[in-house]
Amino acid sequence: MPTALSLLNSVFGYPAFRGRQAEVVDHVVDGGDALVLMPTGGGKSLCYQIPALLRPGTGVVVSPLIALMHDQVMALRQVGVRAAYLNSALSASAASEVEQAFVRGEWDLLYVAPERLVTARFMALLERAELALFAIDEAHCVSQWGHDFRPEYIALSVLHQRFPQVPRIALTATADAQTRAEIIARLQLEDAQQFVSSFDRPNIRYQIVEKNDPRQQLLAFIQEEHPQDAGIVYCLSRRKVEETAAWLQKQGITAIAYHAGMDVAVRQQHQDRFLRDEGIVMVATIAFGMGIDKPDVRFVAHLDMPKSIEGYYQETGRAGRDGAPADAWMAYGLNDVVQQRRMIESGEADPQFKRVAQTKLEALLALCEATRCRRVRLLDYFGEAAESCGNCDVCQTPPATWDGTQAAQKALSTIYRTGGRFGAGHLIDVLRGQPTEKVRQWGHHQLSVFGVGNDMDDKAWRAVLRQLMAHGYVSVNHDAFGALVLTATSRAVLKGETQVWMRKELGTKPPKRLSSRPLAAPQNAEDDRLFEKLRAWRQTAARELNVPAYVIFHDATLALIAQRRPATLAELGEISGIGARKLESYGAGLLAVIHATV
Ligand code: ADP
Ligand code: ZN
Repeated sequence: MPTALSLLNSVFGYPAFRGRQAEVVDHVVDGGDALVLMPTGGGKSLCYQIPALLRPGTGVVVSPLIALMHDQVMALRQVGVRAAYLNSALSASAASEVEQAFVRGEWDLLYVAPERLVTARFMALLERAELALFAIDEAHCVSQWGHDFRPEYIALSVLHQRFPQVPRIALTATADAQTRAEIIARLQLEDAQQFVSSFDRPNIRYQIVEKNDPRQQLLAFIQEEHPQDAGIVYCLSRRKVEETAAWLQKQGITAIAYHAGMDVAVRQQHQDRFLRDEGIVMVATIAFGMGIDKPDVRFVAHLDMPKSIEGYYQETGRAGRDGAPADAWMAYGLNDVVQQRRMIESGEADPQFKRVAQTKLEALLALCEATRCRRVRLLDYFGEAAESCGNCDVCQTPPATWDGTQAAQKALSTIYRTGGRFGAGHLIDVLRGQPTEKVRQWGHHQLSVFGVGNDMDDKAWRAVLRQLMAHGYVSVNHDAFGALVLTATSRAVLKGETQVWMRKELGTKPPKRLSSRPLAAPQNAEDDRLFEKLRAWRQTAARELNVPAYVIFHDATLALIAQRRPATLAELGEISGIGARKLESYGAGLLAVIHATV
């Protein structure tokens, strides 16, 4: 009888469980329900894959990621697991074959799209098959407040009602308390044991810079820090995605676009290219990324501010799943704050939803304006205490602060005197004493505040307004297009009862990273030569199977091979990431590459 650990060794080729994996596996193997919260890259999949192998019957995995099921299943078949998927991409006859094999008990794991799972037809099929467990992946999709809400997920509570004896394991990388509570309530997981891991991603460096010329800033960041690397650039609108991708291409970057408005075939083709080729920059809306398990994404950049810390954390979490150094970079400015506040206020949503959205935005703004470690703030949001990390821009170049009370008073007075009907540009003209046509037309050159701020330049005033908005002393009037207005808390500042401390500048550049070679790429030239040969060999193998290269082997595994140069199959089998089946399929090929290069 195999054990969890023996399967981890022989099937997946890994020497030991990570974090809480072993506990989760034991609990589910014993028939318990589990809720697993682990950051992206933490190793959630093994938590249900190994129990599915150990328990009799098939593990049914519910996943919204139809476009990725093929690769997930191929990766499992590579290690000798009998896996299949059912989704709308399959022809009726292919689906029927998978279903028949399911009833005959021929699958260890079956991936199913949620809308198919809850049909009466599929329920009947489930009744006829032997079930090892239900795994509900991306469980935060049940959350109506979240950005990945899938109505079909709500119906999944039927699993518990119809199959109370089958253990269920729900998994997500979304950590906030509200989402967690929603998952438990909607999936009826009240009795499930919760396994919460640390959400820290120590290999990701957080960096938030002041937006001046965002495209140029992005280009400089890519060229200086990540010239040949795969990365994702997030933008808010489809149009901006396309424009940014086209512009980056013109600057010599291999960039492609992805958003929900694109032709489905083109979108899929771009996703495949990002996964299969090396060093591609994907410019995308947030429609892209859930479930993308490409391990070597070296950076995630935001050209527009996300809506919440959850969003920011999920998106940035797609960098560095392999554990090697990676960057989360964001350009942020006054317009981002105005835009996000306006989007919330002008939306159709009910007041409660708007309040939740505002609170979430505020937490993110506090992260952007942080004067102390960003990681401490991020983890604090998820209820986790941490020490200053030394791996974010604030830790590496601590920002200076200044007493901005007077400047705040000038800005707030100007908003007050001009009646709360103008946007930032006009307010700054009045503050700086610019007698523009609009200023004269409204008679604002006659106000007492005209020119009171001519000691500071335009950029400095934008920073002041941005921070006033971030701290909630100013908000946006959704009826008047982008007009800045006072809030309940501004009065205390105007009266001198509240002091306002401001950051001098956002994102002074942290020290440059020395190397951004793929994961712990060998340091000496000999090993590096072999590593590159092994990567070339892997590329050919991946092309033949039409799978991403990392499905064959991860960089980490190839790096170990290059370093240790195993001479026999037995020695090769000792390397992390090489299980029995991969040794059988690829052992001889790998030894030949090693032999030819040494
Ligand atoms: P998640 O779904 O939590 O984002 P995955 O299940 O995709 O993470 O795992 C992330 C990566 O870590 C995968 O490449 C996986 O093979 C690897 N991994 C998971 N568990 C282990 C382990 N115990 N030892 C070594 N590598 C592991
Ligand atoms: Zn830090």
